Amino acid sequence: MSQSSKNAFKFFALGGGNEVGRSCHILQYKGKTIMLDAGIHPAYQGIASLPFYDDFDLSSVDILLISHFHLDHAASLPYVMQRTNFKGRVFMTHPTKAIYRWLLRDFVRVTSIGINSTGEDDNLYTDEDLVESFDKIETIDYHSTVDVNGIKFTAYHAGHVLGAAMFQIEIAGLRVLFTGDYSRETDRHLNSAEVPPLSSDILIVESTFGTATHEPRLSREKKLTQLIHTTVSQGGRVLMPVFALGRAQELMLILDEFWSQHADELGGGQVPIFYASDLARKCMSVFQTYVNMMNDDIRKKFRDSQTNPFIFKNISYLKNLEEFQDFGPSVMLASPGMLQSGISRDLLERWCPDDKNLVLITGYSVEGTMAKFIMLEPDTIPSVNNPEITIPRRCQVEEISFAAHVDFQENLEFIEKINANNIILVHGESNPMGRLKSALLSNFASLKGTENEVHVFNPRNSVEVSVEYTGTKIAK
Ligand SMILES: [Zn+2]
Repeated sequence: MSQSSKNAFKFFALGGGNEVGRSCHILQYKGKTIMLDAGIHPAYQGIASLPFYDDFDLSSVDILLISHFHLDHAASLPYVMQRTNFKGRVFMTHPTKAIYRWLLRDFVRVTSIGINSTGEDDNLYTDEDLVESFDKIETIDYHSTVDVNGIKFTAYHAGHVLGAAMFQIEIAGLRVLFTGDYSRETDRHLNSAEVPPLSSDILIVESTFGTATHEPRLSREKKLTQLIHTTVSQGGRVLMPVFALGRAQELMLILDEFWSQHADELGGGQVPIFYASDLARKCMSVFQTYVNMMNDDIRKKFRDSQTNPFIFKNISYLKNLEEFQDFGPSVMLASPGMLQSGISRDLLERWCPDDKNLVLITGYSVEGTMAKFIMLEPDTIPSVNNPEITIPRRCQVEEISFAAHVDFQENLEFIEKINANNIILVHGESNPMGRLKSALLSNFASLKGTENEVHVFNPRNSVEVSVEYTGTKIAK
C-alpha cells in the first residue's frame, strides 16, 4: 500500500484482475470513487461467482458504469444495488438497459437452482430485486457527457455487442479511458470502437487475446460456412453454443445470407437452422429497434430492402427442446455459450457420441467451463445431471473465433492512439495478459527514462495500483 495521498490515482480490481470473468474495478481520485462493471464469473455459482465485494466499502461509490450487457460485466448488478450498502448512481446505454432486463430475468431463472442441498436459498437475487434495480438505472447516449458532482463521463462506441460502450471519465482534469470489451474490426452490424477526441492519462484496457493474432474476418466467415456446409452435407448436426445475445446475431446474419445463396440445396427447410433461446426471440425486437445505433452498412440494407435485417428467412426459433423434431441434419445455435448447463449442454450430451456431428465454438471460453474442456477433445464428458455418468465424445470439435475482442495488432494500434502514460491491463487470463504486458513494454522501450515513459500494470484482484499526479491536472 502506498501512502495515502490526495493526488494519488488509485485503481484496484474486485474482479477481472488476471482473469476473465466477474469484471469489477474501482477508481479513486480526489475523494471521488467510481466503479466500473459488476459481473459474475461464469465458471462458478452463487456467492462464489461474485467479485470480491467484501474487500471494499461499496457505500463510498459515487457512480457505477456498466460497459455492456454480458454476464461477466453486468450480472451482479442487481446484487450490488439490492443486497449491499451501495447507494451510488448507475449508468448504461439504452440498448444495454433494454437487453439487461430480459437477460437477467433469464439468468435468475437459469441460476434458480435456488435451494441448495442444505435447504438454503442460494440465489444471488430475485426477480423483484431485478425489477427494483431496473427502475433506478439511468441511461446515457453515445457521445454525451454526464456530470455527477465533478465526475464527468462520456460514452463512446466499443463495437463488441449492441450497446457496448467505452467510458472516458474526467476528474479535476485527469482523464481515464475504460475500454470494457472492445473490437476494432468492421462487423456486419456494429460500429467499431472509436478513439475519443480528447487524450487520456490512464488507459484501462482488456487483454483477452493477449498477443494472439486473428485470421482476417472474411476468411473466418468462409471457414465457418464451409465447415458447417460440409458437416450438414454428410448428414451431421452442428451445435453452435452461443451466448443468447450479441455475437449470436452476427452469426445469424452470416448463416442467413449463406443459406439464401445456397437456397436450392439448403433452403426451404431442407437443412433447418434453429435458434434455441426464448430470450433471443424476446430480444430480437431490441435489435430491430436499435438499428439506428448500428453501422451504415446494416442501416443501408434496412433502408434499401424496407425489411428488417434481423428478421431472418432461414432461421426459426425454438423455445425449448420439447418442440424440436430431431430428424436429419440441422444447425442449432443454443445458449449458454460455455455449455455449463441448459439447452446447449443437453444437445451436446445428445449429439457428441456421433462422429458425424460438429461442435463449433465461436465465443471466448472461460477457464473452468465445459466449452474450454471440450476443445481438449476428451474421450468422454461428464453428464451435467449426474457427473458419475460419462458420455463418449466422438463428434468433431472446432473453434473459429467470432468473439469480437481485439487481437494483439488491433489492441496495440488502439493503445498507441490513446497515448496514455499509464496502462492498466484487465480482463485476461494471467498468461496472455503477462505476454501482452511484455510486448507493450518492449514496444514503448524507447520512451523509458523520458517524461513520456509508459508504465504497464497487470494487477491481480484486490491489489492496488497507485499513480501520483501533482496538483490539479491541467486538461491537455
Ligand atoms: Zn463481453
